[in-house]
Amino acid sequence: MGRFAPSPTGDLHLGSLYTAAASYLDARAHGGRWLVRMEDVDRTREVPGAAAGVLGTLESFGFEWDGEIVRQAERDAHYSAALEALEARGLTFECTCSRLMLAEEERYPGSCRMRAPQPGIASAIRLKVNPREVQFIDRIQGACRQDVALAVGDVILRRRDRLFSYLLAVVVDDAAQGVTHVVRGADLLDSTPRQIYLQQELGLPTPIYAHVPVLVEADGGKLSKSARSVRLDPGQVMAQLMHVFALLGLDPPSAIGDSGIAAAWAWAKGRWDANRVASRQTLHLEG
Ligand code: GLU
Ligand code: ZN
Repeated sequence: MGRFAPSPTGDLHLGSLYTAAASYLDARAHGGRWLVRMEDVDRTREVPGAAAGVLGTLESFGFEWDGEIVRQAERDAHYSAALEALEARGLTFECTCSRLMLAEEERYPGSCRMRAPQPGIASAIRLKVNPREVQFIDRIQGACRQDVALAVGDVILRRRDRLFSYLLAVVVDDAAQGVTHVVRGADLLDSTPRQIYLQQELGLPTPIYAHVPVLVEADGGKLSKSARSVRLDPGQVMAQLMHVFALLGLDPPSAIGDSGIAAAWAWAKGRWDANRVASRQTLHLEG
């Protein structure tokens, strides 16, 4: 079971199409199901209309997802339950540190770990993260390891504004939806160890991860969404799909480009192999 988990903060672009195609092909090539989850847990970043736009774009590029779209904004009860389970085991604490107080810190220094709760003061809830090396083998990036306590320290589970963190939401949702194979952008490679750490604390299974490179401009800069080739264009579906298949190492023959969307996807499914994807964290578009 795979999934694509866009945040409704804007339109999909070539980079998101690349990631979505990788997770879709990986699931379908193995006869698996593929889910779409709208990651709108952070309501403050949601752009009105973006969620509908994302789904419309996926449809026009021929993606077919299984089941209903899950929306994080509707799942607070599940995140609460996970938080309460950790609280009951004494694994959490309230943190009243402001962003400013932590601005100079490389990782959370544990300031509030020993402090008694201060009722009436807005506080975040953090997980006590103890030194422990988390290791996993990424299917594309290879062996990865990180001591989460050393890298980031006690992570936030619920923010001061009472919104649950992306970390808690993604861990709870991947488990609740039975996701076994996560394929996503390498910009999330660094946060994978903390997700695995939290899975372990909650007694949840760890999926198998594959982090595909993030597409960047020829000069190494972030994809400029205004560029013609980067903006997804419903009038250029085949050309943009072919571009993405090529960037995934599938080497599509030009005849595939004339075959229609469904046939192109069928061809790509047969051809998919995660080992063809460049094992690097960024992939430069040609200028
Ligand atoms: N919602 C995240 C993003 O759009 C992706 C999270 C994930 O795939 O785990 O960057
Ligand atoms: Zn604190």
